[in-house]
Amino acid sequence: MYAIINAKMTYLDYAATSPLLPEVREAMHRAEKRFFANASALHTPGHLAMNEIERTRELLAKMIGAEPDEIVFTSGASESNNAVIRTFEGHQIETSPLEHHSIIETAREYKGDKLPKLYSYMQANNETGEILDLAEVVRRAAKDESVDCPEMFDKKNDWGKPLVTVRKGGYIHSDLTQTLGKIPIDIKKLGVDYATFSAHKIGGPVGVGALYVRRGVPFKPLIIGGNQENKRRGGTYNTVGIIGFGAALEYVLREKTWKKYDKEVRRLRDGLAKRILTEIPGSSLNTNLTYGASLPNILNVSFRAAEGESIQLYLDAEGIVVSTGSACAAGDTKPSHVLMAKTGDAEVAHSSIRFSFGLENTKEDIDKVMEVLPGIINRLQQISTIQS
Ligand code: PMP
Repeated sequence: MYAIINAKMTYLDYAATSPLLPEVREAMHRAEKRFFANASALHTPGHLAMNEIERTRELLAKMIGAEPDEIVFTSGASESNNAVIRTFEGHQIETSPLEHHSIIETAREYKGDKLPKLYSYMQANNETGEILDLAEVVRRAAKDESVDCPEMFDKKNDWGKPLVTVRKGGYIHSDLTQTLGKIPIDIKKLGVDYATFSAHKIGGPVGVGALYVRRGVPFKPLIIGGNQENKRRGGTYNTVGIIGFGAALEYVLREKTWKKYDKEVRRLRDGLAKRILTEIPGSSLNTNLTYGASLPNILNVSFRAAEGESIQLYLDAEGIVVSTGSACAAGDTKPSHVLMAKTGDAEVAHSSIRFSFGLENTKEDIDKVMEVLPGIINRLQQISTIQS
C-alpha cells in the first residue's frame, strides 16, 4: 500500500512508528509550497501558516476533549515527557518502572524532594500494550490511596511496593503516545493534569508531538528563547510537520480509527496469539488479551529457549518486520526493563518479540508469519538445547 514499504514486506512494527498516511504526505507536500513562511511573522504568509497550526491545535483538542489553549506543540513525545518532568525539577517525582525511557531517565536526573509531587504513569505500555485504568488512578489520588489493581500494574516490585502510588495534592501526567487513535480519549474524564502525544504513531510525521497542559497547572518551558506557544515552547514553528499531524488527526477522526482497532485489528491480533499458542511449543503471552486490559494492536510473546533478537533477524530475512521490546532500546543487550518489571524473569524478557499492528494489516500477514515462525522457533530451540 505504501511506496516506502516493499510490497513483499509484512510490517508489524506500527508501535515503533507508522508509515506516513498518503493523505498526510499530500498535505505536507502542499504545505511546503504554500505555508513556508515563519508562522510567528506578522505578514500575510505568516498568518496563513499560523491559521493552519491553529487548525491542528483545534483538531487535537477536539479529539481528546481539551481546550485549544491547553495544547502545546513539541518535537515529539520525548520532548513532551521531558518538559513535564523538568517543570517539576527538584520535586518529588514518582513513576512506574514500566515507563518509556524519556520519563524514567529524566525523572532520575531531575527529581528532588520538594512538594508538590508529580506522578507520571503511562496509559498504555508500548512494549506489551497493557492498559492502566488511569481514571481510577486519578480517583484514588483524590482519596489519598495507593493503586494496586489494574492489569498492567498488578504486580508488586521486588520491595513489595505497588507499581502505582498516588497521593492527594500531587499533579498527574500520563504518556498517551500509544493510545491516541487506538482507544477513545476523553482527557477531562481521565482527569489528568498533563498528557503526552506523538504524531508518528498515528500516520503523521516523526518530529512532531504535543503536550496537554491543563489550564492553571504549573508549566516551565523546556525550550526557552521565543514567544511561541504562549511562551511555553520557543523555536520557529514546524509548520509543515504540524500540518501533517493535523492531516493524521483528520484521518483518525473521520475514520474513527479506534473502532477499527477495536474490531478488525483486535481480531487479527487475537488470531495470531491463538495460533502461536497452539502451533508453537514453549510460547507464552506477555500481553493480557482480556478485553480492556490491553490495546488491541500490540502482542508481546516469549518463546522458551529462543532469543528475541535472533527471532527478529530470522523474521526480517523473511520480510517480516517485528521488534524486540522497544526500538529505543535496540542495540541494548539488557533485557527489556518493562518485561523485567512485569515478570522479573530475564529469560522471558530476552526471548520476547513484539508484534504491533496497523489498519493496513490483513489476515494474509498473519498467515505469512505462521508459515515461517514455527520453523524459526524450532530451529533456535534446537540450537539452544544442543548448547545447554
Ligand atoms: N512514549 C512512548 C510510550 C512511546 O512509545 C514513544 C515512542 N517509542 C515515545 C514516548 C517517544 O516518542 P517520540 O518518538 O515522539 O519522541
